[in-house]
Amino acid sequence: MFSYRHAFHAGNHADVLKHIVLLATLRRLTQKETPLAVFDTHAGAGLYRLDSDYSATSGEASEGILRLLAQPGGPPLSESRAQKWCEAIQDYLDVVARFNRAGAKTIYPGSPFIIQDLLRERDKLKLFELHPTDGKNLTGNIAQLEAGRQIAVLREDGFEGTRRMLPPPQRRALVICDPSYEMKSDYAQVAQWISDALERFAVGTYLVWYPIIPRPEAHGLPRRLRTLADKARRPWINASLTVKGSKITRLPDGREQRPGLPASGMFVINPPFTLRAQLAEALPQLVAALGQDRHAAYALDSSG
Ligand code: SAM
Repeated sequence: MFSYRHAFHAGNHADVLKHIVLLATLRRLTQKETPLAVFDTHAGAGLYRLDSDYSATSGEASEGILRLLAQPGGPPLSESRAQKWCEAIQDYLDVVARFNRAGAKTIYPGSPFIIQDLLRERDKLKLFELHPTDGKNLTGNIAQLEAGRQIAVLREDGFEGTRRMLPPPQRRALVICDPSYEMKSDYAQVAQWISDALERFAVGTYLVWYPIIPRPEAHGLPRRLRTLADKARRPWINASLTVKGSKITRLPDGREQRPGLPASGMFVINPPFTLRAQLAEALPQLVAALGQDRHAAYALDSSG
């Protein structure tokens, strides 16, 4: 259960998609004066070093954030597209830059710190993390902010914890759900959790990250989320990014080489009305900047 460590994956292409969608959504929600409650069901350690052994071993950040940072002017030029990064990507790059000394590329902020960067005094953040080491690291990282009661780290199950806390007293909430999908049962658990959450608090904004891999449960999840959102008559957006094909190649010595995660998606229920247009600009730029082969593509779908 606890073999997953996000330090291996921090800043990969899936984090790039997830954190751009999270940031664009939260940016909009914090433009309204009224207080907001934010919940992160699977928070991770909060901060990651891109020069650590974990990151070097996996090399995943070099297919994600480091690849974007290596293109400071914008994505590769094409006839139809200007070179400048669109607003949502530039905002994300600016937030990442704030965690690094001028020009450095060593720290990557996970979802808790991206959220924290946007919080106003009146907003509250609850972070759930079950892994003993990552929970301890997260507690230490958050303690340095001296945020007092504004940010709580709860080292317990994020599905159960948020079920208990919804609806929040503020009556406005963003909930991000980003499991590691280590176990097949995680997919069903996410769908059941969304169903419960919509019953308890139908107007919350829910962001669910999912991997796109050749496994029936993974294919089924966005379909199930869509059915649940439609049944609850809530608007939704589904955005996915593919950076490479998923074909397994055979090396000259006969060993199989797996491509690693080729694609992932973000399903958003009750998105801000600005999100679809922002993603319509950002996704083609991400394909141009992060695409590794002819399979690179994006999809953007929404209700109504
Ligand atoms: N959201 C983080 C980010 O974007 O920076 C990354 C989270 S990582 C994909 C998933 C995390 O969930 C892992 O750190 C794992 O230990 C933790 N986890 C697994 N099951 C959990 C559960 N039921 N409740 C809370 N945390 C859990």
